[in-house]
Amino acid sequence: MTAPILILGTGLAGYNLAREIRKLDKSVPLALVSRDDAPFYSKPMLSNALAGGKSAAALVMKTAERMAEELDARILPRRQVMAIDTAARQVSLDGGEVLPYRDLVLALGADPIRLPLDGDAAAEVLSVNDLDDFARFSARLDGARRVAILGGGLIGCEFANDLLARGIAPTVFDPSPWPLGRLLPAEAGAFFQAGLEAAGVVFRMGTSATGVDRQGAAYRLRLSDGGVAEADLVLSAVGLRPRIALAEAAGLKVGRGVVTDRQLMSSAQGVFAIGDCAEVAGLSLPFVMPIMQQVRALARTLTGTPTAVSYPAMPVLVKTPALPTVVAPPPAGVAGEWACVAPGCRCATPDRVKPRGEVRIGILMFSTS
Ligand SMILES: Cc1cc2nc3c(=O)[nH]c(=O)nc-3n(C[C@H](O)[C@H](O)[C@H](O)COP(=O)(O)OP(=O)(O)OC[C@H]3O[C@@H](n4cnc5c(N)ncnc54)[C@H](O)[C@@H]3O)c2cc1C
Repeated sequence: MTAPILILGTGLAGYNLAREIRKLDKSVPLALVSRDDAPFYSKPMLSNALAGGKSAAALVMKTAERMAEELDARILPRRQVMAIDTAARQVSLDGGEVLPYRDLVLALGADPIRLPLDGDAAAEVLSVNDLDDFARFSARLDGARRVAILGGGLIGCEFANDLLARGIAPTVFDPSPWPLGRLLPAEAGAFFQAGLEAAGVVFRMGTSATGVDRQGAAYRLRLSDGGVAEADLVLSAVGLRPRIALAEAAGLKVGRGVVTDRQLMSSAQGVFAIGDCAEVAGLSLPFVMPIMQQVRALARTLTGTPTAVSYPAMPVLVKTPALPTVVAPPPAGVAGEWACVAPGCRCATPDRVKPRGEVRIGILMFSTS
């Protein structure tokens, strides 16, 4: 039997690659492995599911069985990949099974970064990066009134806004001076903050947690400014780290992610990487739009037409209904400045954002120098 194209991971990268391959080739053997149940779901919905009243189960669009049928693929859920042997072209799974591959694709995602917190409850801080995490998080929300969110970036702000739908006014802690600090300049960040504050989110910018202790049924956070805060639940959203351990152990070149060229090929022949685990031509882009460009290019390569990925403009949509925001940030390290180009916009005067219901549109342009 011919060895399959083997895809490690069934997130948006793994499953969308399989779909793109099937559009081009109905018969090439395909196999996918996942350490979770391998459901097909849209990860971005995790941070606006509360407003829609969705449980983790309701977010599942298709089960692994249904995906296996649809893709005419072998899917191995709840199996952990333990090692990759590029010389023998095979991977080992927990339980000792060995899977040969024709081509191997790493679509292993990324792990939430854990802050170096001290205290007897540091290990109880939650993060939400997949359906199982979301199930744990939503179960813990029953009866919670105070939620502390560590991290005022995209994911932290989206969860903060979403929690308002559950009647919870969360507090966001972040050492940066304004939220979405990696995406927005100061004025727009302040405008964004004011919009979410008007809806009920509390921001403690310039402050981070250093420790978390148990206090009865709740938690006591120790803060960098010497203060303390109480919470029934602590959610950490301080970023993701690409999963590179398997690739590194197999001798593949790694940087921040698994290093690939523009054809998504790693340093080993016949081994590719896509999605949150990949560093493609120097860029780690943990968003859906780059993943879709990557899978279209790689599907062509794997079906006989070598294709390099190219990215169009890829704006980031911040899913905060209290102040919907779209931003196309300049690449890291590019010099230039932001300027507001919307006539009459008051984005630099966030204290005047109110009254509620007012149409608030700011347009900022970044010009390179
Ligand atoms: C809350 C949240 C909201 C987001 N919102 C947006 C948004 O609005 N817009 C946007 O563009 N992006 C958003 N993103 C980012 C986007 O969802 C991700 O970039 C994308 O889903 C990553 O897909 P992936 O397939 O690379 O990784 P994942 O979905 O993490 O998939 C990784 C897969 O690898 C498997 N795996 C890992 N290790 C092993 C192993 N050793 N053995 C077997 N299987 C393994 C896992 O089981 C899983 O199937 C959001 C992310 C989060 C967390």
